[in-house]
Amino acid sequence: MFMAKISSSSSRFLRVFGIPFGIAALTLVTAGPTLAANTGAEAPAQNAPAIVAVSDSISIHKDETVLSFEFNRAAPLNAYVLANPDRVIIDLPEINFQVAPPDLAQAHRNHDSNGLASVSKKQLTAPSLVRNFRFGLMGQGKSRIVIDLAAPVRLVHAEMKKISHGDPARLEIALQPASRAEFMKAAALASSKIVPDEATQPAQAVVDSGKPVIVLDPGHGGIDSGAINTKANSEEKNLTLAFANRLRQQLEASGQYSVIMTRDSDHYVSLSERVKIGREAHAKLFISLHADSLAGGGGVHGATVYTLSNKASDIAAERMAAEENSVDSDAGLVTQNAEPKDVNDILNELMLRETRAYSHLFAESVAKTWGPAEQMSKRPLRSASFVVLKDPEVPSVLIELGYISSRRDLANLTSDTWREKTARTFVTAINAFFATQIGAVGSVQKIANSVDPTSVPAVTKTTH
Ligand SMILES: [Zn+2]
Repeated sequence: MFMAKISSSSSRFLRVFGIPFGIAALTLVTAGPTLAANTGAEAPAQNAPAIVAVSDSISIHKDETVLSFEFNRAAPLNAYVLANPDRVIIDLPEINFQVAPPDLAQAHRNHDSNGLASVSKKQLTAPSLVRNFRFGLMGQGKSRIVIDLAAPVRLVHAEMKKISHGDPARLEIALQPASRAEFMKAAALASSKIVPDEATQPAQAVVDSGKPVIVLDPGHGGIDSGAINTKANSEEKNLTLAFANRLRQQLEASGQYSVIMTRDSDHYVSLSERVKIGREAHAKLFISLHADSLAGGGGVHGATVYTLSNKASDIAAERMAAEENSVDSDAGLVTQNAEPKDVNDILNELMLRETRAYSHLFAESVAKTWGPAEQMSKRPLRSASFVVLKDPEVPSVLIELGYISSRRDLANLTSDTWREKTARTFVTAINAFFATQIGAVGSVQKIANSVDPTSVPAVTKTTH
């Protein structure tokens, strides 16, 4: 029968060597070159969860696409579909995914070449159901698999099957083509049962030390890898966390600030939760850390500091904001965009203007301090409508530390020496920002007055 099948490197490893399941899992955890926490990021959590996924694969048949994950033991699951964007979601308890996602492009290429050799034209034109899939931690005790769909599907089954004596189990997710109407009906039913996903992680307790609070927000995490450089095996989520950790150490060592991280391990935190952490901490500064990527843009490099504006400063900034703002729906969250009732309130608007003026001041401070190191892009200060920057009371910037697609930038981002040095530069910029703030009421007022009132952003606020 016509079929294209591809597995991740770890599952091929299992098949080739035929190592008993449990031993293979252990081997992979410690020795798998593609599986180790990469790029010098934080070491894996010490209390590794007991359930481990050791391989994954996808089989594309004519009428059915089957995704499989092999676990060291069975786990309960909840599977459902969501529309716009169309996805299949599998909720699981905390799983240690010791697998790399299969190369779907390769699977589809195999699909084509197999097709040319042996199947009819009708089969060849059969649409591919799965566009992509990802998996990872959503929060404490929660993991998720998200399958992006290229066409409406019927979720035929998603079940754990025993695959041998002992504990190992296989999760099989079978999808068949369905009509749009059928898919929408299933999605509506699933949505009606879901409580909007808010707090994925309890925010860190805020201890009032009297020092200004700085919130560091390492972008992405868990199921959301962010930008990936597959050749270098680098993921944005690890690079941002590694840098944030270093910056935190230096800020705390200065004795001048209280630092709160929106995440300090590899799990997903929703955008609204990140904003909420900043708001509840009464942060004087919120710094979201990211790394950009440009397909085919290996020569494009340099860091950029973004502030909030409704209208993007340029096309690249608009693309960046669209990408960064889509992470919640990519992670399978049902998001709600609630407009606060008092958005047009004059006091609120004044507050917004002032907050944005402080955000600009800090962005300028970073450009001034970091610029001379010649690591910033040609246009280092840009703006766009980033959801994570939208708190009306917290001065917020989003810093793209560099391009993960640029060899030069990636060498920096993965270097401990660079992190140390750049974190020092950031501390200098932060010190300068807080120093000028004290006597900066006049200049803040000037910037605040120059902010176009029509560009006052809509604010995403959680109501509970
Ligand atoms: Zn990012």
